[in-house]
Amino acid sequence: MYNKYRKSEDWVRHQETRLLNVDPTAENLPKEYVLGILNNYTCLNEFRHIENYNEKKLENYKSQIWNEYSLKKYLAVEYPLILLESTGVKSEYAEIVSDIVGGLLPYDIGEINAAIVLSPLNDTVIFFSESMYAFIWKYFHLKRNSNSNYAEILYKSMTKYEFLNWKTSDLKVYQQQIDAEFKLSVTLAQLFVVMHEFAHYLLGHLKQVETKLFSFASNSQAHMSYAISREDELDADMLASDLYVAFLKHSFKYNYEEFILIGFEIIRCFAKIEHDIDEKMFFKNKHHPLPSSRMIYMTLRHKQEFIKKGEAELISFLEEGIKTNREFYTYDFNKDLNSEKYMKEHEC
Ligand SMILES: [Zn+2]
Repeated sequence: MYNKYRKSEDWVRHQETRLLNVDPTAENLPKEYVLGILNNYTCLNEFRHIENYNEKKLENYKSQIWNEYSLKKYLAVEYPLILLESTGVKSEYAEIVSDIVGGLLPYDIGEINAAIVLSPLNDTVIFFSESMYAFIWKYFHLKRNSNSNYAEILYKSMTKYEFLNWKTSDLKVYQQQIDAEFKLSVTLAQLFVVMHEFAHYLLGHLKQVETKLFSFASNSQAHMSYAISREDELDADMLASDLYVAFLKHSFKYNYEEFILIGFEIIRCFAKIEHDIDEKMFFKNKHHPLPSSRMIYMTLRHKQEFIKKGEAELISFLEEGIKTNREFYTYDFNKDLNSEKYMKEHEC
């Protein structure tokens, strides 16, 4: 079960309070209020097949601090970790997930991003930025309202730090629209991000010595040395996409193909920003593959699912595209990453 005692918890809290300007000792929120937020913004009651999961979680409320800060951390990173732990991956890997410490990514290096690192105690930690969480909500909000300018609006808001404050505004603006579909879209997008980070772990990328040096000092060499190659990044995407599709098959037996693209949506949005607005933006980090290539390779890896869904034309368009575009980073998107090893069997 998620939430068992993890030894790096203190180190993570220290990074957050040092750089995030959060107050973890802020006063407790009323139980009813916390329950309202959890029911409103998460799908755990539906996914875990445990009746009133959120309410059960709040049973030990008195021993936990539920203030604005802990609630944010829960919604941004712990909640998708709980989903990852409980569905899709085999129980021995679920054990590993339950040992991961979740944290909010400090802004100094955070931007709209997530990261997996080793703590000084050698524990695995996944950080998720608050601005990434805010970005995902805003993205689905703009899409829902058929805002064709969504990439530009999001790009502009990427340049400044968005502090998520649902008490006053940010999440409140979506209040009228939060239905099951909206909530599910946000959840699947978050889950894919967390699966990508977990895939780095499964692929052994954290054993690369550089990641241990990750120190959260804003412009230090340590930060610069947090570098995973383009090939490794794409491998993490491919494995994450396998885990994600397995999760969908497991959770939505009949129409799971409908949900595949939702998980990739944020990368698709970055690809649109790269294409329409600022193509240089994603070249800044030369180790990171371009969002368009990430999107295309993931789609082609799961082409059978897309063809089943009636997207044969799209698939042949993409296949032709990567053959003729010589600048495209060459990558074997069908490579065997031992995905089956990690995933639960699903009945067809
Ligand atoms: Zn990555």
